[in-house]
Amino acid sequence: IKKIGVLTSGGDSPGMNAAIRAAVRAGFYYNLEMFGIYRGYEGMIQDDIKRLDSKNIAHVLERGGTFLKSARSTEFKTPEGRKKAYENLKSHGIDALVVIGGDGSLTGAHLFFQEFGIPSIGLPGTIDNDLSGTDSTIGFDTACNTAIEAIDKIRDTATSHDRLFFVEVMGRDAGFIAINAGIGSAAAAILIPEKKMPIEHLVEKLKIRSKAKKSSNIVIVAEGGKSGGAGEIAEKVKKFLPSYDIKVTILGHLQRGGAPSSFDRLLASKLGVAAVEGLLQGKYDVMAGLINNKVVYTPIKKAIVDDKSVDEEDFRIAKILST
Ligand code: ADP
Repeated sequence: IKKIGVLTSGGDSPGMNAAIRAAVRAGFYYNLEMFGIYRGYEGMIQDDIKRLDSKNIAHVLERGGTFLKSARSTEFKTPEGRKKAYENLKSHGIDALVVIGGDGSLTGAHLFFQEFGIPSIGLPGTIDNDLSGTDSTIGFDTACNTAIEAIDKIRDTATSHDRLFFVEVMGRDAGFIAINAGIGSAAAAILIPEKKMPIEHLVEKLKIRSKAKKSSNIVIVAEGGKSGGAGEIAEKVKKFLPSYDIKVTILGHLQRGGAPSSFDRLLASKLGVAAVEGLLQGKYDVMAGLINNKVVYTPIKKAIVDDKSVDEEDFRIAKILST
């Protein structure tokens, strides 16, 4: 392996820049040529590929987003699109790939490896934490910190007005951000996709808290919750508790932004190096992750299929703390 292409794809996450920078630095350390593939698979198809030097990666570690930009590419889902992408890689002499993204991006990398045999390693770049083979994904910790900071602010106004707030956090298929942010901000209840909570049950909980003279109530709702989004749930609860002053806040994309936390910087840096070293050791079609602070390479197929779900123990603790 002499030339490695790096790309970020799918939903962006804080720490992607740190991962790119670490992979590129590691490449230079091992005397490799490093290429940036801009706008994910879309840029691979459109030949938006440039050789990177150390200037390109200066002062990016601390910045949110991804300087390589990210995109979703429907063309890459077609065999013709992937063929075009392969031809472009060949024309630059790129003989290995580091793909940083979520389960969709890694699915694409797996397929591409199967079809063209280009050595590739995936890195878990998503705020959702929904990939197996790593304790935490790059960006998850920052997103939780951002959510908690926002909820703290909402708590101030909720307390001042004795309001009930429904705060929606990201996590379409997994309630990781919701459970962490919920425990970390003393939420009255946490609604996640993995567990259904009947509205009556939630209402009962809120009534009990009201009797206990809790001055503010914040309910955290993961966007893909089985009982609906924060707006829908607030509507339903309002029917049972018409006298409550109920407000809804959707945190939305602010959870994706911002400077990565120290945890994410370290995680991304370790995994960026692990990606390049893994490729040099002949580990292909795998995702590099960190488990118990050790680098682990998991076949991409396993990392994306074995859907992780919120730890039962975390859920139990959340329950105890909100009762
Ligand atoms: P994420 O990586 O954050 O999960 P997406 O699911 O949108 O984001 O996937 C990002 C991109 O990865 C898609 O736009 C597409 O180009 C590629 N991709 C996703 N799934 C596949 C697939 N089954 N086959 C080929 N490419 C895919």
